[in-house]
Amino acid sequence: MARDGQNGRRELLGRVLARLAQAYGRPAPRRWGNAVDVLVATILSQNTSDVNSSAAFANLRRCFPTWDAAADAPVLRIECCIRTAGLARRKAPRIRAILRRIRAERGRIGLEFLQKQRPDEAYRYLTGFDGVGPKTALCVLLFAFRMPVFPVDTHIARIARRLGVLPPDVPDARAHEHLGPQIAPRDRYAMHLLLIAHGRRICRARAPQCERCCLLSDCAHGRRKMK
Ligand code: SF4
Repeated sequence: MARDGQNGRRELLGRVLARLAQAYGRPAPRRWGNAVDVLVATILSQNTSDVNSSAAFANLRRCFPTWDAAADAPVLRIECCIRTAGLARRKAPRIRAILRRIRAERGRIGLEFLQKQRPDEAYRYLTGFDGVGPKTALCVLLFAFRMPVFPVDTHIARIARRLGVLPPDVPDARAHEHLGPQIAPRDRYAMHLLLIAHGRRICRARAPQCERCCLLSDCAHGRRKMK
């Protein structure tokens, strides 16, 4: 680890947030849709680009104006609608099974009841669905309910490792447990979005642009690379 101690890592992450907010602007809260929309959209976004998953989500809503209609449809029709998102043969049956299970358990397809639950309870409920891992569940809690959780995607895990605030042996699926507590609850939404923006533009997986990076002075990986 490049930094010693939890306090050092918290301070570093505080500076990271301030610099990224200066570079990109602090993201304003916005409405991301209801929780079922966010859940389906996040499943569609797994292992593909935003452009492809957004197109698949829009097409799915065009084909099925209500989630009940999707729950009652043949799985092949759902598969055709979401083809642009990739892995459609895997995602389509999972989405339909989730919609059907919510309806069977709750009497209708809605997840508003999770708003009244503690984040850990709501997280357990969502990760009980096949195809819903930690990142997907935490995205629903953060974007649909504004709960103070910290989903970690591949961009965030990569930057955190390069900055030395995430040990290399912590797998991506457990990274939220390690990073979340080091970020103030009020900052987790902004930090999540800003790190993803930075990972797409500057700290890319291949050829990170360290010479243009506002985090260089705090980044051991970047400084090594610049020598
Ligand atoms: S200095 Fe380089 S490796 Fe470090 S965060 Fe910036 S782009 Fe990524």
